[in-house]
Amino acid sequence: MIRPILKYGDRMLHDRSAPVESLTPEVDRLIGDMIETMYAAPGIGLAAPQIGVALRIFVVDLSLGRDSADLIVMVNPEFVERDGMQLEEEGCLSVPGFNATVVRPSRATVRGLDRMGEPHERTATGLLARAFQHEMDHLDGTLFVDHLRGIKRDLIVRKIRKLARAGKW
Ligand SMILES: [Zn+2]
Repeated sequence: MIRPILKYGDRMLHDRSAPVESLTPEVDRLIGDMIETMYAAPGIGLAAPQIGVALRIFVVDLSLGRDSADLIVMVNPEFVERDGMQLEEEGCLSVPGFNATVVRPSRATVRGLDRMGEPHERTATGLLARAFQHEMDHLDGTLFVDHLRGIKRDLIVRKIRKLARAGKW
């Protein structure tokens, strides 16, 4: 089922999510909905809080559903290590219409459980490393806008408030 994606300003997006205690059929359904919602958007990643569920789960697929081998499901993910630095434009399904350059480590290893509850670990560079870090941020209530400073951040936040006042957000 495709679920509505919450937008910047919704309380749920700015709170820390809780670990998944067990991979129940409900959690499996949630993961299925996350994948479907990500593909429908379309986006390369989605975290559970973006559809209003405060659990530590994210899905990423750089192929946008074209190659099933590219789909990564991470439940209760943790960083094993991060290094390097990259500076690229970044956007978010919860902040539609906006993007900004965000500094991120260029390499990241994430460990978590897959959809079956089996432990797995993935090391990524470039865009995938960026996606991992962006989705991990969501689980702690952080959006890419929160990484910006000063005028860049103010500009986006002000435009969002204006859209919200006009009922267009
Ligand atoms: Zn996002």
